[in-house]
Amino acid sequence: MGITKFEIVPILEKKYNVPVKIKNDGKCAGLAEKKYGELKRYDDCIFLCIGTGVGSAVFIDGDLVELKQAPGFEFGHMMIDKNGIKCNCGNIGCFETYASMKRLKKEAIKQFGLDEDINSEELQKYIRNNINEDKMRNFIDNYIKNLSIGIINIINIFEPEAICFGGSFSYYTDIFLPKLDKEVKENKFNKNTECKLICARHQNDAGIIGATLL
Ligand SMILES: [Zn+2]
Repeated sequence: MGITKFEIVPILEKKYNVPVKIKNDGKCAGLAEKKYGELKRYDDCIFLCIGTGVGSAVFIDGDLVELKQAPGFEFGHMMIDKNGIKCNCGNIGCFETYASMKRLKKEAIKQFGLDEDINSEELQKYIRNNINEDKMRNFIDNYIKNLSIGIINIINIFEPEAICFGGSFSYYTDIFLPKLDKEVKENKFNKNTECKLICARHQNDAGIIGATLL
């Protein structure tokens, strides 16, 4: 939004006369999955919210890793192609310019000549109806290949026991996760460790549920 410094907490506290806490949405969604959802049984695990961008929360030994200067773990802005697409952040080839659902939609509109105004449900239907066509298979394989580069980097660094996927990505997990799992198993550095790839339980409500845990 271009806002660099704005103290919203005292304004909200004054208006509603209740204590207010504030946290990054990806971290809140991760907290919900860790406490009540699919990450409950894992100590070292990562939550990735793949929607318009890529948000995240990292848990080590059961606790959310909290940094001093900023929320951190901006996996969406990890550069995976120095000759890649320009990102909103000003850099080139950021992971989210390949992995986000916004990008998937834009690319599908371009490659399949779809209506610019197609909504997420219609797009999901189109992809599912054409899932056995060669062109659609290539489209999905290419998306998964790019996605796997970022996911493998994350696994090689953190060696999590599980990565949980939320955001609108979760509507496609039955299609995407088996393919992603295969790519990850074949190409991650440490072949002796296991990282489960799982779908978020709370989907789009995770951020709100997680905020109640602050
Ligand atoms: Zn970026």
